[in-house]
Amino acid sequence: MASSSLRFAQPTFPNSILKTKTNTFFVSKSVFLTPVPNKGKASNAHAITKLACVNKTTEIAACNQIIGDVNSKLTPLRIGIVGFGNFGQFIAEGLRRQGHFVLATSRSDYSEYCKQNGMQFFRNMDALCEEQPDVILVCSSILSTENIIRSIPINKLKPDTIFADVLSVKQFPRNLFLEILPPGFGIVCTHPMFGPESGKNGWNGLPFVFEKVRVTDTGAQAEKCTQFLDIFEQEGCRMVEMTCEEHDRHAAGSQFITHTIGRILSHLNLESTPINTKGYETLLQLTENTVSDSFDLYYGLFMYNVNATEQMDNLDRAFETVKQKLYSRLHDILRKQIVERVPMQGELRTKSTNSLSYLPDGESIKKLASLGMSEIKLSEAVTVSSPR
Ligand code: NAP
Repeated sequence: MASSSLRFAQPTFPNSILKTKTNTFFVSKSVFLTPVPNKGKASNAHAITKLACVNKTTEIAACNQIIGDVNSKLTPLRIGIVGFGNFGQFIAEGLRRQGHFVLATSRSDYSEYCKQNGMQFFRNMDALCEEQPDVILVCSSILSTENIIRSIPINKLKPDTIFADVLSVKQFPRNLFLEILPPGFGIVCTHPMFGPESGKNGWNGLPFVFEKVRVTDTGAQAEKCTQFLDIFEQEGCRMVEMTCEEHDRHAAGSQFITHTIGRILSHLNLESTPINTKGYETLLQLTENTVSDSFDLYYGLFMYNVNATEQMDNLDRAFETVKQKLYSRLHDILRKQIVERVPMQGELRTKSTNSLSYLPDGESIKKLASLGMSEIKLSEAVTVSSPR
């Protein structure tokens, strides 16, 4: 078993069971805290994890190897969140659950929230950067991100600081980071494909997309990057490594479409009924989830993903196609009735009016016209079907 796969699967909680592909382990973990000079209450934590193989004896060698690998020192990361709104707070919870220090700054004042949740809030970017976090995690709205990044006093940060982001579009922040950050800074672009609604019962199995855009292969930056990504791995996320381009292509075809449908549905003011189907329940849920996100977020998905316009056009065309399918079938039925069941002009006079009652009357046909049946020659249809 590769030791790195276990490193990623290393559980957080002591006295828990860890299952790998080949083995089950009992895990005990002890954390020793030692104060860090000049950092107030911050501490270095040494986590010692012991794994005891409980279901097999045949792979003791592999187990020993694993034990050797995980008995390493772990210093919790100091992660500075920039943009502490809806999603910033949600992600901060996970970072904290994993034993890391959360520092935050935002346009609004979240100092009370931070105080109550064991996090540190800074009223401005300068104060946050003076703390020299290991990772700056950008959680601001897509629309405000450029201004925010440009306002960061980079010179106050350590020269190997890692910049990460959670924006729902990826090429834009990647290019921005590459343009603005000095070469020594690490860059990791991520998109947790879940939010406060979909991730409220835990992150297990939820996709976490990332690209290590610029991270050293070895040394402290490489280790911190691994440690940062481990947070999500350990929360049970399904880690998906892909380029920012790939992400934006997939996200436009999935996430943007989902949000667009949700937004459209929200304009229908759908209500629960006593006979909801499962499908309808899903639509109601989708509407609720979509509108709980800010419109800024949705606009950002459109504006900052080069593939969004194409998807919007596709959606438009698809709706037209479906409408056309319905109306052209109706057209076919009408034509069948008109052409095959209505006697030709000459014979019409000899049939009784009753035999034509199955045909739509002139008024109904006019209503159909308003549904967009432009290709049907309605005036002709009315002439033929009206009893004389
Ligand atoms: P959002 O509306 O996209 O962003 C709100 C955040 O942006 C808040 O921290 C807000 O600060 C800040 N902000 C907005 N306008 C600003 C401005 N003009 N100047 C400075 N700061 C400004 O909602 P969100 O749901 O919290 O999303 C945050 C980020 O996470 C986005 O980039 C989004 O794409 C990403 N994301 C969201 C989800 C989700 O499910 N919501 C999932 C994955 C990724 P204040 O609160 O201080 O005003």
